[in-house]
Amino acid sequence: MHLSRLEIQGFKTFAKKTIVDFRGPTKNANALTVVVGPNGSGKSNIADAIRWCLGEQSMKQLRGKKAEDIIFSGSKGKTRSGYAEVIMTLDNSKKTLKIDFSEVNITRRLYRDGETEYLLNGKATRLADVQLLLAEAGIGQRTYTVVAQGMIDHVLTSSPEERKVFFDDATGVRGLQIKRHHSMNKLKNATKNLIEVELILAEIEPRLRILKKQISRLEKREKFEEELKELQEKYYSTQWWDLQNQLTQVKHRLDIVEAQVKEKQADLKAGDDKLMAMEENSKKDAEEDRTGLKNAQAGYKVAQQTLANARHSKFEAERNLELAKVSARSIWAPLPLSSIIKSLDEIISLDPSLGIAKFISFVKKLKDQLTKPNPEDFKPDPKMLEALKVADEHIKLAEMAVKKAEKLIDAESKSSSEVNTELFAVQRKLRGIQHELHRIEQNKNQIQIESARIETRIEGLVTEMLEEIPQTRNAIMAENKAIPDLYPNQTRADILRIKHQLELIGGIDEETIKEHEDTELRFNFLSGQLKDLREAIRGTEKIVDELDERIQKQSEKAFKTINTEFQKYFRILFGGGSCSLIKLRASENSDDPSHVSLDRSMEEMAESEVRANNDDGSDRKDEDESAEDVLVRFKKRRETVSGVDIQATPPGKKLKSLSLLSGGERALTSIALLSAIMATNPSPFVVLDEVDAALDEANTVRFANILDELRKLTQFVVISHNRATMERADLLYGVTMGDDGISNLLSVSMTDLEDVGSARR
Ligand code: ATP
Repeated sequence: MHLSRLEIQGFKTFAKKTIVDFRGPTKNANALTVVVGPNGSGKSNIADAIRWCLGEQSMKQLRGKKAEDIIFSGSKGKTRSGYAEVIMTLDNSKKTLKIDFSEVNITRRLYRDGETEYLLNGKATRLADVQLLLAEAGIGQRTYTVVAQGMIDHVLTSSPEERKVFFDDATGVRGLQIKRHHSMNKLKNATKNLIEVELILAEIEPRLRILKKQISRLEKREKFEEELKELQEKYYSTQWWDLQNQLTQVKHRLDIVEAQVKEKQADLKAGDDKLMAMEENSKKDAEEDRTGLKNAQAGYKVAQQTLANARHSKFEAERNLELAKVSARSIWAPLPLSSIIKSLDEIISLDPSLGIAKFISFVKKLKDQLTKPNPEDFKPDPKMLEALKVADEHIKLAEMAVKKAEKLIDAESKSSSEVNTELFAVQRKLRGIQHELHRIEQNKNQIQIESARIETRIEGLVTEMLEEIPQTRNAIMAENKAIPDLYPNQTRADILRIKHQLELIGGIDEETIKEHEDTELRFNFLSGQLKDLREAIRGTEKIVDELDERIQKQSEKAFKTINTEFQKYFRILFGGGSCSLIKLRASENSDDPSHVSLDRSMEEMAESEVRANNDDGSDRKDEDESAEDVLVRFKKRRETVSGVDIQATPPGKKLKSLSLLSGGERALTSIALLSAIMATNPSPFVVLDEVDAALDEANTVRFANILDELRKLTQFVVISHNRATMERADLLYGVTMGDDGISNLLSVSMTDLEDVGSARR
């Protein structure tokens, strides 16, 4: 690869478009282009243009203060330029640049408003991409590709650490170093993200644990509710069908007894009719006697009716009492936990000055509420008891009245003159039927009470089912068979136990479910990210390790060769003496700047993350190494070489500090080093701006000889005032400047040199 063309426009003194053509290599050597011209004509501006196009960012290196200083600022005859543009054309037929073009144009443009552009073969690109492309081909804009005027001994005067960058270029590992730098930045960002994600996770994890517990309570609750539903269905279904059966049986018994009542009533009526007929026949015989008997019989009927009414009232009173008992039992339910707590709170907050009696009455009330009523302890409404008592008294009175009426009939019958035994017999039989009817009716009353009791229980059950199992109630009632429950009492106890458990678990609101869902989603997402980050970090670390290995190997080998070559050229230039390059190793704890530094915030974050991890007590698996471990490794991953020291002792002198060398000695040492580098790791082209300025005549010739030797490896563009150098040129350019302050370039031959006017003989 070689530099084939340079196009400069609007750059410093090159206001007009200026094209510098370079020659390609011959079979034996690369072209040597020498630029000559008077002081201030703009020669160095050509070197600056190349340096700038290669991506130089430092304005100091470009001899300016601000970016726009490189744009032609105008002169007497010409107004200032709106932009500066430099296009460098590189012959890439050997594909030294890793790009699929045999000719590569790199364009850099800067406008006065600060807008800047990089183009690669006319296509916009990023500076970093241009730099990487060039670095991989061994062209670095910062170090020895362009050696600026007065900068030849810069490598000697700079610190060992600054020299390191120079030697990275020299040993050809700059491209690898750039890649390493990018990887380290990636690693830094990934580590930073890892710390951040771990911090957020450490914050979310405890909350998620709490939410999980609540959700597991909910699951438990659902399980209990399911179990409760099953038990309740079984229990109520059995209860329902049991009561239905009881009711059918009672109704059947009631039918029978009602039929008996009807039969007896019919018997009674038949007897009555017979009695009346008999009485009609014997009417004429004993008209007056029978008036008394008739009255007695009428009185008996009234007494019987009163007795029947009183018995009915008693039946009503008994039935009411019985139903009240059933209701009292079926409506009882255990007091919910919340109500118990409320009652206890009331008791606790009682004013002590109210006395112990008040306190006891409250406790008793609570105890009553908590105790299931015993049927024997049922306290009916006193009104009901009163009604029963009154009914009993009425019955007693009515029975007495009946007996009295019976006696009166007997007396009247006996006193009758025309005693008709048959009539008496009928009357006695009728009384017998009356007694029988009464006994059956009493039985009927009992059955009716029982029926009402069952119906009330059914009613209570229906209400209870509506409350407890509203969804399945109708299905249970419509079903024509029961779910068998062998131990309903046990089932009832189980139902109460589960209800109690549910009360203890308590409710859970929709918000918590939603929060759990969201938090879990976020947690899983971040955990996934954490995994990806760890993987990315491991991948990048591997890349850095591989790069480090390559850098180490390559730089070790090249450094050794440079060192040997340095000694060779040093002896050529000085005619003896000794010199050496020494690598300075970075000590583990040293605070040198060769490793990628961390942000302060990153350190702080890592510390709090370590604290959070220590607090959360979570077990970490080995493969899930924490950000802390990654960070420790990251910090350790510094470069092993921190700088390069140079020792140089000219012949006949004792080893002394570089700063004590003369200007010429420094220039010779630097040229020796530069030559050693060129010989070891030649840059495709090198621009040297008056590096021979400090050399005496003899050394100028030596330098020219070295250039001649090195052009086999490198294309040189040399700015020089030295004739010895000019004489070796394949191509000589002269730079002139007229009154308009604009540089002009012209191709010259050695014979033209006198016209250019500045060449030293
Ligand atoms: P020497 O032989 O003394 O080293 P040279 O030929 O290398 O000289 P340069 O350093 O290339 O000269 O040119 C310097 C000149 O360029 C100065 O006169 C300076 O004023 C001029 N110059 C620098 N920047 C600009 C600019 N933006 N616009 C116009 N002129 C500029």
